[in-house]
Amino acid sequence: MKRVTPGRRAALPTLAGRKVNLNVINAFRGRPDHEAAASPAPRRHSAPIVVAAVLALGLAPLAAPANVRARAAAPAKPPAAASAPPTDLGQWCARLAPQVPGIDGAACRASGLVAGSGRSVRGVPLWSNDVLPANGAPRFKVLLLSGIHGDELASVTLAFDWIARSHGVQASAMPHPSKATRPTIADVAWRFVPLLNPDGLMHSPSTRVNAHGVDLNRNFPTADWERDAQPYWIKRTRKDPRRFPGLRPLSEPESRWLLEQIDQFHPDLIVSVHAPYGLLDFDGPPPAPRRLGSLQLDPVGVYPGSLGNYGGLVKNVPVMTLELKNARAVPANELSAMWTDLQRWLNEQMNNPGVQASAQRSLVPGTRTIGAPRRID
Ligand SMILES: [Zn+2]
Repeated sequence: MKRVTPGRRAALPTLAGRKVNLNVINAFRGRPDHEAAASPAPRRHSAPIVVAAVLALGLAPLAAPANVRARAAAPAKPPAAASAPPTDLGQWCARLAPQVPGIDGAACRASGLVAGSGRSVRGVPLWSNDVLPANGAPRFKVLLLSGIHGDELASVTLAFDWIARSHGVQASAMPHPSKATRPTIADVAWRFVPLLNPDGLMHSPSTRVNAHGVDLNRNFPTADWERDAQPYWIKRTRKDPRRFPGLRPLSEPESRWLLEQIDQFHPDLIVSVHAPYGLLDFDGPPPAPRRLGSLQLDPVGVYPGSLGNYGGLVKNVPVMTLELKNARAVPANELSAMWTDLQRWLNEQMNNPGVQASAQRSLVPGTRTIGAPRRID
Protein backbone atom coordinates (compact mmCIF):
# COMPACT_ATOMS: atom_id res chain seq x y z
CA MET A 1 0.00 0.00 0.00
CA LYS A 2 1.32 3.39 -0.90
CA ARG A 3 1.86 5.75 1.97
CA VAL A 4 0.14 9.05 1.37
CA THR A 5 2.23 12.01 2.36
CA PRO A 6 0.74 15.47 2.88
CA GLY A 7 2.62 16.76 -0.14
CA ARG A 8 1.21 14.05 -2.39
CA ARG A 9 -2.25 14.47 -1.00
CA ALA A 10 -2.29 18.09 -2.12
CA ALA A 11 -1.55 17.17 -5.74
CA LEU A 12 -4.85 15.74 -6.91
CA PRO A 13 -6.20 18.31 -9.36
CA THR A 14 -7.03 15.78 -12.05
CA LEU A 15 -9.26 13.69 -9.87
CA ALA A 16 -10.87 16.72 -8.30
CA GLY A 17 -11.53 18.17 -11.71
CA ARG A 18 -13.06 14.92 -12.89
CA LYS A 19 -15.46 14.92 -10.01
CA VAL A 20 -16.56 18.43 -10.82
CA ASN A 21 -17.36 17.20 -14.28
CA LEU A 22 -19.62 14.60 -12.72
CA ASN A 23 -21.64 17.45 -11.30
CA VAL A 24 -21.89 19.01 -14.70
CA ILE A 25 -23.20 15.68 -15.96
CA ASN A 26 -25.66 15.61 -13.10
CA ALA A 27 -26.77 19.10 -13.99
CA PHE A 28 -27.48 17.98 -17.53
CA ARG A 29 -29.47 15.08 -16.11
CA GLY A 30 -31.66 17.65 -14.42
CA ARG A 31 -30.51 16.90 -10.90
CA PRO A 32 -30.71 19.61 -8.30
CA ASP A 33 -27.39 21.18 -7.39
CA HIS A 34 -26.02 19.45 -4.31
CA GLU A 35 -26.59 21.76 -1.36
CA ALA A 36 -28.70 24.06 -3.46
CA ALA A 37 -31.22 26.53 -2.14
CA ALA A 38 -32.91 25.56 1.08
CA SER A 39 -34.93 28.74 0.75
CA PRO A 40 -35.54 31.11 -2.13
CA ALA A 41 -32.39 32.64 -3.55
CA PRO A 42 -31.76 36.20 -2.41
CA ARG A 43 -31.62 39.08 -4.82
CA ARG A 44 -28.62 39.49 -7.04
CA HIS A 45 -26.29 42.33 -6.33
CA SER A 46 -25.63 45.24 -8.60
CA ALA A 47 -22.43 45.64 -10.55
CA PRO A 48 -21.39 48.98 -9.00
CA ILE A 49 -21.27 47.41 -5.54
CA VAL A 50 -19.17 44.55 -6.84
CA VAL A 51 -16.78 47.05 -8.38
CA ALA A 52 -16.64 48.96 -5.11
CA ALA A 53 -15.82 45.77 -3.22
CA VAL A 54 -13.10 44.93 -5.70
CA LEU A 55 -11.56 48.38 -5.51
CA ALA A 56 -11.73 48.41 -1.74
CA LEU A 57 -9.74 45.19 -1.65
CA GLY A 58 -7.15 46.52 -4.05
CA LEU A 59 -7.52 43.59 -6.42
CA ALA A 60 -8.03 43.05 -10.14
CA PRO A 61 -6.11 45.78 -11.90
CA LEU A 62 -7.39 46.27 -15.42
CA ALA A 63 -4.33 44.62 -16.95
CA ALA A 64 -4.62 41.52 -14.79
CA PRO A 65 -5.04 38.15 -16.49
CA ALA A 66 -8.52 36.68 -16.73
CA ASN A 67 -8.08 34.27 -13.87
CA VAL A 68 -6.98 37.07 -11.54
CA ARG A 69 -9.92 39.21 -12.55
CA ALA A 70 -12.18 36.24 -11.87
CA ARG A 71 -10.71 35.82 -8.39
CA ALA A 72 -11.64 39.39 -7.57
CA ALA A 73 -15.30 38.89 -8.38
CA ALA A 74 -17.51 38.92 -5.33
CA PRO A 75 -21.11 39.30 -4.34
CA ALA A 76 -21.47 42.61 -2.68
CA LYS A 77 -23.47 42.89 0.47
CA PRO A 78 -23.03 40.48 3.38
CA PRO A 79 -26.04 39.87 5.58
CA ALA A 80 -26.72 42.67 8.02
CA ALA A 81 -26.53 41.94 11.73
CA ALA A 82 -29.87 41.10 13.32
CA SER A 83 -28.84 41.94 16.90
CA ALA A 84 -25.88 41.74 19.24
CA PRO A 85 -24.04 38.42 18.84
CA PRO A 86 -24.30 35.94 21.73
CA THR A 87 -20.89 35.52 23.30
CA ASP A 88 -21.57 33.06 26.13
CA LEU A 89 -23.27 29.67 26.12
CA GLY A 90 -26.40 30.88 27.91
CA GLN A 91 -26.97 33.63 25.36
CA TRP A 92 -26.13 31.28 22.48
CA CYS A 93 -28.58 28.62 23.66
CA ALA A 94 -31.25 31.27 24.27
CA ARG A 95 -30.91 32.38 20.65
CA LEU A 96 -30.92 28.84 19.30
CA ALA A 97 -33.79 27.32 21.29
CA PRO A 98 -36.68 29.27 19.73
CA GLN A 99 -35.17 29.07 16.26
CA VAL A 100 -34.05 25.45 15.87
CA PRO A 101 -36.59 22.63 16.18
CA GLY A 102 -35.93 20.19 19.00
CA ILE A 103 -33.49 22.39 20.91
CA ASP A 104 -34.28 22.95 24.57
CA GLY A 105 -32.48 25.88 26.18
CA ALA A 106 -31.66 24.08 29.42
CA ALA A 107 -30.51 20.93 27.62
CA CYS A 108 -28.39 23.07 25.33
CA ARG A 109 -26.65 24.73 28.28
CA ALA A 110 -26.08 21.32 29.88
CA SER A 111 -24.85 19.62 26.71
CA GLY A 112 -21.15 19.99 27.49
CA LEU A 113 -20.32 22.43 24.69
CA VAL A 114 -17.08 24.33 25.13
CA ALA A 115 -15.67 27.33 23.31
CA GLY A 116 -12.10 27.24 22.14
CA SER A 117 -10.38 30.01 20.27
CA GLY A 118 -12.71 29.93 17.28
CA ARG A 119 -15.02 32.85 16.60
CA SER A 120 -17.34 33.67 13.74
CA VAL A 121 -16.99 36.87 11.72
CA ARG A 122 -19.28 38.58 14.22
CA GLY A 123 -17.43 37.18 17.22
CA VAL A 124 -19.76 34.32 18.16
CA PRO A 125 -17.87 31.41 19.77
CA LEU A 126 -17.70 28.24 17.69
CA TRP A 127 -18.80 25.65 20.23
CA SER A 128 -17.77 22.03 20.19
CA ASN A 129 -18.31 18.98 22.33
CA ASP A 130 -16.00 15.98 22.72
CA VAL A 131 -17.61 12.73 23.81
CA LEU A 132 -14.81 10.31 24.59
CA PRO A 133 -14.77 6.57 25.32
CA ALA A 134 -15.19 5.70 28.97
CA ASN A 135 -12.92 2.68 28.44
CA GLY A 136 -9.78 4.53 27.48
CA ALA A 137 -8.17 5.44 24.19
CA PRO A 138 -10.49 5.75 21.20
CA ARG A 139 -10.33 3.19 18.41
CA PHE A 140 -12.02 5.46 15.88
CA LYS A 141 -12.67 9.18 15.77
CA VAL A 142 -15.60 10.98 14.19
CA LEU A 143 -15.92 14.72 13.62
CA LEU A 144 -19.56 15.68 13.12
CA LEU A 145 -20.21 19.06 11.59
CA SER A 146 -23.58 20.80 11.35
CA GLY A 147 -24.80 24.26 10.52
CA ILE A 148 -22.09 25.00 7.96
CA HIS A 149 -24.98 26.53 6.03
CA GLY A 150 -26.93 28.74 8.38
CA ASP A 151 -30.34 28.11 6.85
CA GLU A 152 -30.20 24.33 7.31
CA LEU A 153 -31.64 24.26 10.81
CA ALA A 154 -32.41 20.55 10.88
CA SER A 155 -28.70 19.78 10.73
CA VAL A 156 -28.29 21.51 14.10
CA THR A 157 -31.20 19.51 15.48
CA LEU A 158 -29.42 16.31 14.44
CA ALA A 159 -26.17 17.36 16.12
CA PHE A 160 -27.83 17.93 19.49
CA ASP A 161 -29.79 14.70 19.22
CA TRP A 162 -26.64 12.71 18.44
CA ILE A 163 -24.66 14.40 21.23
CA ALA A 164 -27.24 13.00 23.63
CA ARG A 165 -27.16 9.58 21.97
CA SER A 166 -23.36 9.40 22.12
CA HIS A 167 -23.46 10.24 25.83
CA GLY A 168 -25.98 7.42 26.19
CA VAL A 169 -23.58 4.98 24.52
CA GLN A 170 -20.84 5.89 27.00
CA ALA A 171 -23.20 5.77 29.97
CA SER A 172 -24.09 2.17 29.13
CA ALA A 173 -20.60 1.08 28.03
CA MET A 174 -19.27 -2.06 29.66
CA PRO A 175 -15.62 -2.32 30.73
CA HIS A 176 -13.40 -4.25 28.33
CA PRO A 177 -12.35 -7.59 29.83
CA SER A 178 -9.06 -7.39 27.93
CA LYS A 179 -7.18 -5.23 25.48
CA ALA A 180 -7.74 -7.84 22.78
CA THR A 181 -11.49 -7.20 22.79
CA ARG A 182 -12.88 -6.23 19.43
CA PRO A 183 -13.80 -2.55 19.29
CA THR A 184 -17.38 -1.45 19.64
CA ILE A 185 -19.19 1.81 19.16
CA ALA A 186 -18.31 2.63 22.77
CA ASP A 187 -14.71 2.99 21.56
CA VAL A 188 -15.58 5.85 19.21
CA ALA A 189 -14.50 9.37 20.14
CA TRP A 190 -16.80 12.08 18.86
CA ARG A 191 -16.18 15.75 18.29
CA PHE A 192 -19.44 17.54 17.62
CA VAL A 193 -19.55 20.97 16.04
CA PRO A 194 -23.28 21.71 16.04
CA LEU A 195 -23.12 25.13 14.39
CA LEU A 196 -20.18 26.29 12.28
CA ASN A 197 -22.03 29.25 10.83
CA PRO A 198 -23.80 30.99 13.74
CA ASP A 199 -23.89 34.34 11.95
CA GLY A 200 -25.84 32.83 9.08
CA LEU A 201 -28.27 30.93 11.30
CA MET A 202 -28.90 33.84 13.67
CA HIS A 203 -29.45 36.31 10.88
CA SER A 204 -33.11 37.12 10.22
CA PRO A 205 -33.93 35.38 7.99
CA SER A 206 -31.24 32.73 8.26
CA THR A 207 -28.69 32.66 5.45
CA ARG A 208 -26.65 29.91 3.86
CA VAL A 209 -23.56 32.15 3.77
CA ASN A 210 -21.60 33.64 6.65
CA ALA A 211 -21.51 37.32 7.65
CA HIS A 212 -19.01 38.05 4.86
CA GLY A 213 -21.38 36.54 2.31
CA VAL A 214 -19.15 33.49 1.81
CA ASP A 215 -20.37 29.93 1.35
CA LEU A 216 -18.13 28.21 3.90
CA ASN A 217 -18.53 24.92 2.05
CA ARG A 218 -16.73 26.42 -0.94
CA ASN A 219 -13.92 28.07 1.06
CA PHE A 220 -11.67 25.10 1.86
CA PRO A 221 -8.19 24.89 0.28
CA THR A 222 -8.85 22.14 -2.23
CA ALA A 223 -6.30 21.35 -4.91
CA ASP A 224 -8.57 22.85 -7.55
CA TRP A 225 -9.56 26.02 -5.68
CA GLU A 226 -7.24 28.50 -7.40
CA ARG A 227 -8.08 27.14 -10.83
CA ASP A 228 -11.76 26.36 -10.49
CA ALA A 229 -13.53 27.98 -7.54
CA GLN A 230 -14.18 31.42 -8.97
CA PRO A 231 -14.77 30.25 -12.57
CA TYR A 232 -17.22 27.63 -11.26
CA TRP A 233 -19.03 30.28 -9.24
CA ILE A 234 -19.12 32.73 -12.13
CA LYS A 235 -20.02 30.34 -14.95
CA ARG A 236 -21.87 27.46 -13.34
CA THR A 237 -23.76 29.27 -10.62
CA ARG A 238 -24.00 32.57 -12.52
CA LYS A 239 -22.56 34.36 -9.50
CA ASP A 240 -25.18 32.97 -7.15
CA PRO A 241 -24.50 34.93 -3.93
CA ARG A 242 -25.47 31.85 -1.94
CA ARG A 243 -22.45 30.00 -3.36
CA PHE A 244 -19.72 32.64 -3.34
CA PRO A 245 -16.49 30.76 -2.46
CA GLY A 246 -14.63 33.79 -1.12
CA LEU A 247 -11.77 35.76 -2.63
CA ARG A 248 -9.28 33.13 -1.54
CA PRO A 249 -9.38 29.74 0.21
CA LEU A 250 -9.63 29.92 3.99
CA SER A 251 -10.56 33.60 3.83
CA GLU A 252 -13.12 33.01 6.62
CA PRO A 253 -12.49 32.50 10.34
CA GLU A 254 -15.05 29.69 10.47
CA SER A 255 -13.37 27.62 7.75
CA ARG A 256 -9.91 28.28 9.24
CA TRP A 257 -11.12 27.09 12.63
CA LEU A 258 -12.63 23.94 11.15
CA LEU A 259 -9.32 23.05 9.54
CA GLU A 260 -7.67 23.43 12.93
CA GLN A 261 -10.20 20.94 14.31
CA ILE A 262 -9.38 18.44 11.56
CA ASP A 263 -5.64 18.83 12.10
CA GLN A 264 -5.90 18.62 15.90
CA PHE A 265 -8.52 15.89 16.24
CA HIS A 266 -7.35 13.69 13.34
CA PRO A 267 -10.78 12.24 12.58
CA ASP A 268 -11.10 8.91 10.85
CA LEU A 269 -14.44 10.08 9.51
CA ILE A 270 -16.04 13.47 9.00
CA VAL A 271 -19.83 13.54 9.01
CA SER A 272 -21.09 16.73 7.40
CA VAL A 273 -24.80 17.41 7.79
CA HIS A 274 -26.79 19.42 5.26
CA ALA A 275 -30.30 19.69 3.85
CA PRO A 276 -32.69 19.46 1.96
CA TYR A 277 -31.89 17.02 -0.84
CA GLY A 278 -32.55 13.77 0.93
CA LEU A 279 -29.50 11.72 -0.01
CA LEU A 280 -26.29 10.29 1.34
CA ASP A 281 -23.00 11.29 -0.25
CA PHE A 282 -19.55 9.93 0.49
CA ASP A 283 -16.05 11.05 -0.47
CA GLY A 284 -12.98 9.14 0.56
CA PRO A 285 -11.32 5.74 0.80
CA PRO A 286 -13.47 3.09 2.58
CA PRO A 287 -16.71 1.59 1.27
CA ALA A 288 -19.66 3.87 1.93
CA PRO A 289 -22.83 2.72 3.64
CA ARG A 290 -25.63 2.13 1.18
CA ARG A 291 -28.07 4.04 3.29
CA LEU A 292 -28.50 5.92 6.54
CA GLY A 293 -32.07 5.88 7.75
CA SER A 294 -34.12 6.78 4.71
CA LEU A 295 -31.18 8.49 2.99
CA GLN A 296 -29.88 6.40 0.10
CA LEU A 297 -26.29 6.54 -1.08
CA ASP A 298 -26.19 8.73 -4.17
CA PRO A 299 -22.69 10.12 -4.80
CA VAL A 300 -22.95 13.53 -6.36
CA GLY A 301 -19.29 14.52 -6.59
CA VAL A 302 -17.55 17.46 -5.05
CA TYR A 303 -17.10 21.15 -5.71
CA PRO A 304 -14.07 23.41 -5.69
CA GLY A 305 -13.61 24.42 -2.06
CA SER A 306 -16.11 21.97 -0.59
CA LEU A 307 -15.44 20.00 2.58
CA GLY A 308 -16.05 16.70 0.77
CA ASN A 309 -13.39 17.68 -1.75
CA TYR A 310 -10.93 18.85 0.92
CA GLY A 311 -11.47 16.01 3.38
CA GLY A 312 -12.00 13.19 0.94
CA LEU A 313 -9.45 14.10 -1.73
CA VAL A 314 -6.85 16.40 -0.13
CA LYS A 315 -6.67 14.95 3.39
CA ASN A 316 -7.90 11.46 2.48
CA VAL A 317 -10.25 11.50 5.43
CA PRO A 318 -13.60 10.09 4.35
CA VAL A 319 -16.41 12.61 4.39
CA MET A 320 -19.96 11.34 4.79
CA THR A 321 -22.43 14.02 3.78
CA LEU A 322 -25.98 13.69 5.02
CA GLU A 323 -28.45 15.72 3.00
CA LEU A 324 -31.54 15.66 5.17
CA LYS A 325 -34.88 15.83 3.41
CA ASN A 326 -36.08 19.00 5.05
CA ALA A 327 -33.98 21.98 6.14
CA ARG A 328 -36.46 23.00 8.83
CA ALA A 329 -37.13 19.72 10.66
CA VAL A 330 -36.09 16.10 10.95
CA PRO A 331 -38.40 13.45 12.46
CA ALA A 332 -37.31 11.79 15.70
CA ASN A 333 -37.64 8.31 14.21
CA GLU A 334 -35.39 9.33 11.33
CA LEU A 335 -32.74 10.65 13.73
CA SER A 336 -32.85 7.32 15.53
CA ALA A 337 -32.73 5.25 12.32
CA MET A 338 -29.77 7.20 10.93
CA TRP A 339 -27.91 6.89 14.23
CA THR A 340 -28.50 3.14 14.32
CA ASP A 341 -27.30 2.68 10.74
CA LEU A 342 -24.21 4.81 11.36
CA GLN A 343 -23.38 2.81 14.48
CA ARG A 344 -23.65 -0.40 12.47
CA TRP A 345 -21.35 0.99 9.74
CA LEU A 346 -18.83 2.27 12.31
CA ASN A 347 -18.79 -1.13 13.95
CA GLU A 348 -18.05 -2.76 10.58
CA GLN A 349 -15.29 -0.25 9.84
CA MET A 350 -13.61 -0.64 13.21
CA ASN A 351 -13.55 -4.39 12.81
CA ASN A 352 -12.08 -4.14 9.33
CA PRO A 353 -8.34 -4.61 9.96
CA GLY A 354 -7.21 -1.96 7.47
CA VAL A 355 -9.46 0.76 8.78
CA GLN A 356 -8.79 -0.15 12.38
CA ALA A 357 -5.05 0.08 11.86
CA SER A 358 -5.48 3.49 10.31
CA ALA A 359 -7.51 4.67 13.28
CA GLN A 360 -4.90 3.49 15.73
CA ARG A 361 -2.05 5.12 13.83
CA SER A 362 -3.96 8.37 13.78
CA LEU A 363 -3.65 8.62 17.54
CA VAL A 364 0.05 9.31 17.19
CA PRO A 365 0.67 12.84 15.89
CA GLY A 366 2.81 13.01 12.80
CA THR A 367 2.53 9.36 11.84
CA ARG A 368 -0.91 9.33 10.35
CA THR A 369 -1.45 7.29 7.22
CA ILE A 370 -4.92 7.77 5.89
CA GLY A 371 -5.97 4.78 3.89
CA ALA A 372 -5.13 3.91 0.32
CA PRO A 373 -4.66 6.68 -2.22
CA ARG A 374 -7.21 7.02 -4.95
CA ARG A 375 -6.23 6.01 -8.43
CA ILE A 376 -5.86 8.81 -10.91
CA ASP A 377 -6.90 7.50 -14.27
ZN1 LIG B 1 -25.72 22.73 3.04
